[in-house]
Amino acid sequence: MASRIPLMAGNWKMNLNHLEAIAHVQKLAFGLSEKDFAEVEVAVLPPFTDLRSVQTLVDGDKLKIKYGAQDISAQDSGAYTGEISGPMLAKLNCTYAVVGHSERRQYHGENEDICNAKVKAAFKHGLTPILCIGEPLEVRKAGTHVEHTLAQLDGGLKDVPAEQAATIVIAYEPVWAIGTGEVATPEDAQEVCAAIRARLAELYDGELADKVRIQYGGSVKSGNVAAIMAQPDVDGALVGGASLDAEEFVKIVRFRD
Ligand code: PEP
Repeated sequence: MASRIPLMAGNWKMNLNHLEAIAHVQKLAFGLSEKDFAEVEVAVLPPFTDLRSVQTLVDGDKLKIKYGAQDISAQDSGAYTGEISGPMLAKLNCTYAVVGHSERRQYHGENEDICNAKVKAAFKHGLTPILCIGEPLEVRKAGTHVEHTLAQLDGGLKDVPAEQAATIVIAYEPVWAIGTGEVATPEDAQEVCAAIRARLAELYDGELADKVRIQYGGSVKSGNVAAIMAQPDVDGALVGGASLDAEEFVKIVRFRD
């Protein structure tokens, strides 16, 4: 099995202004050690308006914290009011761009075609997409959660070449577990993450599938992260609410302690 460095990413959603962002990243930098960064990749995903502040702090103080955007436009530039493009994010030295978060799918009608275009836009500009996939509650109840999630994976990766797909991050986020306090059991997370890896092997090959990091997201906290991370196909967590508390996020990064 390939050794995959766990990725702990904090999705701040629409929280923290650019001044609060600086204070928050400083707290994370203070709380984390060289040992943490050697064992785990740590990223924050602030609102667009915070990215310049985070960049200045990270670059200026040579922090090992990575950062990225919560969304990316499928377009490079032009008359797309309110959109933020890949070239703009690349200029800010973003490492990641989240694509297809369930809140974007739900409130902004992002479907598989849009997510696929955004995945391609991220790669085109040297950003790593974190492609979010996962089922709503009614699908889970119907027992078709694996098929549902794999269809989203297929759609997001349509016509994405292997050399790009090998570097993508997939976040399995059951919608019923996001922001609800209702965390999936470690076995639930493993079932779907293993199915995602198997589908990557079908779409590409086993070697590629072995390299791709698959995160779990949905009410991850310091108290439940270790059991989830113990699953063989879970390579990190996409953390929403709990990432807004710096001390709690540091504990999540230190899931092995
Ligand atoms: C998320 O925003 O991706 C998320 C998983 O949120 P929460 O951790 O709050 O459930």
